[in-house]
Amino acid sequence: MDDCIFCKIIDGQIPSTKVYEDDRALAFLDINPQAPTHIVVIPKAHMRNILECAAREDDLLGYLMGLVAQLAKDQGLADKGFRVITNCGEHGAQSVEHFHIHLLGGAQLNGKMG
Ligand code: 5GP
Ligand code: ZN
Repeated sequence: MDDCIFCKIIDGQIPSTKVYEDDRALAFLDINPQAPTHIVVIPKAHMRNILECAAREDDLLGYLMGLVAQLAKDQGLADKGFRVITNCGEHGAQSVEHFHIHLLGGAQLNGKMG
């Protein structure tokens, strides 16, 4: 999608620090990290949010969640724990309308979720 920041990261128009890449997914460091480890996991196909991802015929959403868990282990977060977030729409304060999953860890996170 032409004016989508994350599509531009996927095709290299915007640089990013990549953590993992395959034919379906990309994981990169968040530019404004909210924890010592803050990784953003996205599908390579453009879709707006978790609702659109869940509506697909394939198991992309399950695949992405499995990837998040694998990355948590690879990043050494499994022992102490971590947080997985996806923001959706206005009330969810989603700022980039390309579906993404945040993986946060590496320190004790705030107990508040909102
Ligand atoms: P949201 O608020 O939509 O859930 O999360 C969007 C995230 O994308 C934010 O945490 C923000 O810091 C990150 N972000 C926005 N633009 C860029 C960018 O150009 N590069 C990287 N690496 N992260 C970005
Ligand atoms: Zn996009």
